[in-house]
Amino acid sequence: MLVAALGTVRAIAVSQGQLCLQEPGKCFWRSQRTFSCGETGEGSSYVNESLMDAFKAVTSFCFLSLKGLLSFMSFNIEQEIFPVETMRKAAQLGFGGIYVRQDVGGSGLSRVDTSIIFEALSTGCASTTAYISIHNMCAWMIDAFGSEEQRHMHCPKLCSMEKFASYCLTEPGSGSDAASLITTARRDGDSYILNGSKAFISGGGDTDLYVLMCRTGDKGPKGISCLLVEKGTPGLSFGKKEKKVGWNSQPTRAVIFEDCAVPVGNLIGKEGDGFSIAMHGLNGGRINIASCSLGAAYASILLTQDYLKVRKQFGKPLASSQYLQFKLAEMATGLVAARLLVRNAAAALQEGRQDAVALCAMAKLFATDECFTVSI
Ligand SMILES: Cc1cc2nc3c(=O)[nH]c(=O)nc-3n(C[C@H](O)[C@H](O)[C@H](O)COP(=O)(O)OP(=O)(O)OC[C@H]3O[C@@H](n4cnc5c(N)ncnc54)[C@H](O)[C@@H]3O)c2cc1C
Repeated sequence: MLVAALGTVRAIAVSQGQLCLQEPGKCFWRSQRTFSCGETGEGSSYVNESLMDAFKAVTSFCFLSLKGLLSFMSFNIEQEIFPVETMRKAAQLGFGGIYVRQDVGGSGLSRVDTSIIFEALSTGCASTTAYISIHNMCAWMIDAFGSEEQRHMHCPKLCSMEKFASYCLTEPGSGSDAASLITTARRDGDSYILNGSKAFISGGGDTDLYVLMCRTGDKGPKGISCLLVEKGTPGLSFGKKEKKVGWNSQPTRAVIFEDCAVPVGNLIGKEGDGFSIAMHGLNGGRINIASCSLGAAYASILLTQDYLKVRKQFGKPLASSQYLQFKLAEMATGLVAARLLVRNAAAALQEGRQDAVALCAMAKLFATDECFTVSI
């Protein structure tokens, strides 16, 4: 039954804990057993009909409202255009500060909602959506850890995407070992003087606000602080645009600081809080990037399915080949498994559960690898 259904399946959903393959108004196959998050996480069963309804609603909303937007996003990849105006249209729909509080212009939605939105947007363009997710992470970091003055000064313009943000942690000599970063911020009166460089910064050069992790103290994570640096500050410059094999609608550049003075009022939190702030941002960042992978995989499955139906070999559509039906079933299974892990981690993060950090990392690891396999 499962195999027979795959030739025409339009959507893979979870309804009341059961997997089902369906077209609108018609369920082709429903699993006998129910699946709960206990099988992938800590036993909380958040997978329910309302969640999947929400996914379907957002996906169809994005497909309908953003049809032009999504195809335009794909066009930007080939042209290597950073689609500022397109992203501002997404911001008008509330996607510039999805989990930022509403009093500073955010949408105030949950991490699960955010995952659903990024998955849906990524069905159009994973590259642009991945940048939007980094921008959202930066806006949230200011909302969560900034002073009231900083929140009100920066978040409204970030949520409307009048201004764009970049996250600056990685350095040429400090990647996985992020706590070894050496960009310095030396206190001088009412300023910090920045020296050093950041590598692989998404949006670098094209964005307006840089959320910078830099060293104000001793070696190790406790010596790191978080500072905001605005584009145009003397001493701030950018490297050449990196040549990448993909994700070309978002520029990636080095961000360079040479005796760059920023006011002490640009410090987010206290001196020494920076590493913790950066890691808190990345918990959500991992869910967001994993969600982008889900959208890319979902779009790939829909494209594959359409191709199998129209391409004929040996006198019949490829869709009638049982081998290819099995392959499509494997792709669908990989996507659904990844989606369960990602939504579970998003729920754990939202609830502030103790295992949230590990679940976010696991979700990103599994979803990005699994969805890469599905998409190629
Ligand atoms: C397209 C793109 C966009 C990016 N955007 C941003 C951004 O906006 N902001 C930002 O701050 N950074 C950004 N980055 C940087 C990214 O986060 C880093 O690439 C990442 O932290 C890994 O660092 P690295 O590339 O220096 O790899 P390395 O840390 O040098 O690692 C190289 C390899 O060694 C492995 N490895 C490292 N340590 C160990 C170990 N102890 N044991 C076993 N294996 C190990 C790694 O898994 C990896 O496979 C971006 C990168 C890319 C490619």
